[in-house]
Amino acid sequence: MSSFSAPKGTYDLIPPDSADFLAVREAISAPLRRAGYGYVETPGFEQVELFARGVGASTDIVTKEMYTLTTKGGDELALRPEGTASVLRAALQANLHRGALPVKLWYSGSYYRYERPQAGRYRHFSQVGAEALGAEDPALDAELVILAADAYRTLGLRRFRLLLNSLGDAECRPAYRSALQEFLRGLDLDEDTRARIDINPLRVLDDKREHVQAQLADAPLMRDHLCQGCKSYHEQVRELLLAAEVPFEDDPRLVRGLDYYTRTTFEFVHDGLGAQSAVGGGGRYDGLSEMIGGPALPSVGWALGVDRTVLALRAEGVALDVPSGTDVFAVPVGEEARRTLFAAVTELRRHGVAADFAYGGKGMKNAMKSANRSGARFALVAGERDLAEGVVQLKDLESGEQTAVPVAEAASAVRAKLNCPSAR
Ligand code: ATP
Ligand code: MG
Repeated sequence: MSSFSAPKGTYDLIPPDSADFLAVREAISAPLRRAGYGYVETPGFEQVELFARGVGASTDIVTKEMYTLTTKGGDELALRPEGTASVLRAALQANLHRGALPVKLWYSGSYYRYERPQAGRYRHFSQVGAEALGAEDPALDAELVILAADAYRTLGLRRFRLLLNSLGDAECRPAYRSALQEFLRGLDLDEDTRARIDINPLRVLDDKREHVQAQLADAPLMRDHLCQGCKSYHEQVRELLLAAEVPFEDDPRLVRGLDYYTRTTFEFVHDGLGAQSAVGGGGRYDGLSEMIGGPALPSVGWALGVDRTVLALRAEGVALDVPSGTDVFAVPVGEEARRTLFAAVTELRRHGVAADFAYGGKGMKNAMKSANRSGARFALVAGERDLAEGVVQLKDLESGEQTAVPVAEAASAVRAKLNCPSAR
């Protein structure tokens, strides 16, 4: 061990477990690519002000969880705590919103929040996200929800649930907000929470404390205050999800922690994760662009937590079908065999075959152990006597069957066994 370890609230991804993370990222992003989402990558840090305005100055993320820093040049920056504000900022900066709409983007990366570390809650975590910018269409909301639900299902998850709500819009939310504020002012709440009533009363509904929740049983609900436009929009989203056979639960109390959501709001929760049950969430954020100084740009998106998705897979005992990284492993005995087999491995790799080699001048026994551990189906074995006869041994590590093949044909013989299309 060195004298250093990963900082509190962080952990390293190490083989073989790291393969699950890659598989989860791939399973979530592949359907997005097939649905017309283009890849976007933004910096790991942004101006603090982007998040203060875009995520909301009163949110936990901005008030408590952001890693901020002042550069030597005096810029106030923050490590990104989430992806949406940055992706929208990047799209506006590149003028994507002046082209064909919606602009559909996906991303994958690390996010940083100064939180109290617990199982499933880290200070550095990983998300895959998707955003569809510049269109107000219930089918777009439904598309995103379906893509997320299908990704979880494809991974083999079963014990997840989709919670769905509508948060209204600029037409109906103000009246609801006032009604909620009036109700909340009559409750027995601490000073911080009372302050929140003025700034963002909806978030009080999201308070996890029991003595707060107990007082909220009769709180007015957005559901009962939706305007006609929001009601019909939400009904269409629900119908499209039903038609796609994506089960959901109407949750009139779902609000989520970010300030920018309007209309469709959803969260995926998993029942095997304990307190940190949210594996992903998102919704419509029609006002966000204007909040960060852009034009009106109604949009919808989500972010799925990769760490918690991996934990959910483990909780359900799902073993991902992660293919072995190596198809063939070369085991040379002696200097000449090292040169011959190293050349064969290079040739195989150039033809796209996953090949590895017993490095470090190991003896035959140890080298065969490495071959078996690699998960390779075949070993290419050669010693002095084989080479004197102009052959190498191609060994099937499953059956133990071994055949001699001419040195010059070693690589093509492996490829033929592996059913490579162009092997002769
Ligand atoms: P929570 O209510 O658990 O704090 P959140 O509402 O803050 O979640 P979002 O901002 O919506 O989470 O982020 C989307 C997803 O990212 C979450 O559903 C979760 O899976 C994951 N996530 C968020 N914060 C963390 C964290 N600190 N550690 C690990 N995963 C996280
Ligand atoms: Mg949070």
